Amino acid sequence: MLVSDDGFDGVVVRLDSHAFKKTQQDGDRFRLGAGVDLMPFAREKSYEGRTGLECMAGIPATIGGATRMNAGGTHGDFGDVVKGARIIHPDGSIEDRPHQLLEFGYRHSKLDGLIVTSVEIELPKGDPQRTRSRFDEIWKSKEDSQPIKDKSAGCIFKNPPGHAAGQLIDRAGLKGTTVGDASVSKRHANFIVAGTSATASHVIALIDVVRERVFKEFDIALEVEVDIWRPTKKGCLV
Ligand SMILES: Cc1cc2nc3c(=O)[nH]c(=O)nc-3n(C[C@H](O)[C@H](O)[C@H](O)COP(=O)(O)OP(=O)(O)OC[C@H]3O[C@@H](n4cnc5c(N)ncnc54)[C@H](O)[C@@H]3O)c2cc1C
Repeated sequence: MLVSDDGFDGVVVRLDSHAFKKTQQDGDRFRLGAGVDLMPFAREKSYEGRTGLECMAGIPATIGGATRMNAGGTHGDFGDVVKGARIIHPDGSIEDRPHQLLEFGYRHSKLDGLIVTSVEIELPKGDPQRTRSRFDEIWKSKEDSQPIKDKSAGCIFKNPPGHAAGQLIDRAGLKGTTVGDASVSKRHANFIVAGTSATASHVIALIDVVRERVFKEFDIALEVEVDIWRPTKKGCLV
């Protein structure tokens, strides 16, 4: 997520209170508040031998954000374990939306303009040694290849069909390209890292530089993966 330097003209809801950080278990099913931190939960369950969240290693997110973005990657997506989400509509009505109506896709779900308050997921029991080492392996591969110690929003662009956005940006010679205090990571070209004086405008200008160059070199239009909040964006954002 990237918030415009001009702010956002609307309501921002922060689900940070105890009520939104609760986890409840019923057999293989877990109901998680939307404010629960995904990664520590994923690590704990993987270490306990539950299968399904090992692929969330290295993805910083709350449960609400991971559901809305269908966070994931080559190892699997969060939506794969989601059985349903409790949501609030702008008129205040509450709905329990089942998996099939959430329409999970590549960094996509059918949750625009809605507030997720909790999610039900299923994590079957597996072999603790396997789930633990899979979590650790995925974590290690992210640690080795991504600039996780720098400030970033994760991958900036979606992978176009048949291509890896990072490889295209790298092949276009853009690693290290800078606008203001924002630069294309030298470690992983699909990450834009922000220095201490970086602004959203620097990041947005750099996104434009990268898109233009990749289009010129490969005739491929990169689509932004991060959600950019601009003053003109309508609705209630969480
Ligand atoms: C180092 C690094 C690595 C990353 N790796 C990955 C990766 O491998 N795969 C991946 O998918 N992402 C990755 N990301 C991006 C990020 O982790 C995901 O997008 C994550 O889902 C964001 O969760 P969040 O809770 O921080 O949501 P935010 O960034 O706060 O919000 C993201 C979107 O979700 C909406 N939202 C948040 N909470 C709710 C809610 N309760 N109800 C409704 N809408 C809500 C927001 O309005 C916004 O549109 C990475 C980020 C970093 C910094």
